[in-house]
Amino acid sequence: MNAATVPVLPYGRQCIDDEDITAVAEVLRGDWLTTGPKVAAFEEAFAARAGARFAVACSSGTAGLHLAMLARGLGEGDVVIVPSMTFLATANAVRYVGAEVAFADVDADTGLLDEPSLAAALTRAGGKAKAVVPVHMNGQSVDMAMVAEVARDHGLAVIEDACHAIGAVARFGDDRDVPVGACRHSDMAVFSLHPVKLVAMGEGGVVTTNHQDLYERLKRFRNHGMERDPVRLENKALGFDDRGTVNPWYYEMGEPGFNYRASDINCALGLSQLGKLDRFLARRRELAALYDKALAPLAPVVRPIPRMVDSESGWHLYVVLIDFKAAGMDRAALMSDLRERGIGTQVHYIPVHHQPYYKQRYGEILLPGADKYYARCLSLPLFPAMADDDVDRVVESLGRAIKGAR
Ligand SMILES: *Cc1c(COP(=O)(O)O)cnc(C)c1O
Repeated sequence: MNAATVPVLPYGRQCIDDEDITAVAEVLRGDWLTTGPKVAAFEEAFAARAGARFAVACSSGTAGLHLAMLARGLGEGDVVIVPSMTFLATANAVRYVGAEVAFADVDADTGLLDEPSLAAALTRAGGKAKAVVPVHMNGQSVDMAMVAEVARDHGLAVIEDACHAIGAVARFGDDRDVPVGACRHSDMAVFSLHPVKLVAMGEGGVVTTNHQDLYERLKRFRNHGMERDPVRLENKALGFDDRGTVNPWYYEMGEPGFNYRASDINCALGLSQLGKLDRFLARRRELAALYDKALAPLAPVVRPIPRMVDSESGWHLYVVLIDFKAAGMDRAALMSDLRERGIGTQVHYIPVHHQPYYKQRYGEILLPGADKYYARCLSLPLFPAMADDDVDRVVESLGRAIKGAR
């Protein structure tokens, strides 16, 4: 079998249809390419979907995390707790504002931040912790009632990295089903709309919040720190004419921001895609159930990550934990074996505390939960356009590779 001729089933893929293409083409024919009516419409739809008062669209999930740090005024001298089992961007955003990262461990089976890990990270932060960024790995929500309680006790801001969890639902304590992004137990939630995530807008991100002041700060930092609201202008001589009318060209900058704007092109795609979220979710859930069933005979060597009882996953990824010793092969061998059979897989993620930059900055840290999760995890193909047969093919190939090795 020639690997080059086998079409590879990727681990994730966007799902774009003619409606999406028409929505984007309409923008291209119109008056606004960048900040125009589609940004506002997308933000309104996203806020409604997430159940939050405000949504701010921006150029990426990474930009969203940075904006959230800026909006909360985090900076030098502050420590922010970040689970090590996440994408680089979660920790890097902390460094962008000059704050330091205290890496937290995660549950070895779910990859999620838990109470003992959070407590240990607080100790490591040595009383300087100002915020925590729970990451909803794979689409499952961290226990946010727990996080909120610890945050209250220690005066921490809570910024959810919900990049995996658009469409996820959680119920903690007295909650009924609450969408992730409603910020019931947090200051802000950050989403990514990168093509591999559930809803694609090319490159893009969204921050949701229920706080007016954070909303205004997010918007200001997204656009160079520019302020045009007449009541906030400081320099009256420059800002107003003799009759006290605001000058139409005038703006002010109190603090420098960035160009993290999202364009109308991207937001038209995001808006169109958001309308399909329920369909995407339903299909992903269906595929996940098929995987569960098909994988059962491969237990205990291969098993899906355990489901949290109090949340409904957004199914960004379908991850299995593999006992590679029992399987008789290592992960690299399994991945290339699957690749030859036309199946793409991926590893999410290398624990960030192992990155040379962070190791040099903070020294060796022992986070056995993250290491144990990392040693076993493998993301199998999951995206709405997959056929039921694809699931069978993936599981059969996985079974055959392991049996061959043993
Ligand atoms: C994708 C992702 C990000 C970054 O989002 P981008 O849109 O790619 O910048 C941050 N955190 C997590 C957990 C992610 O999966």
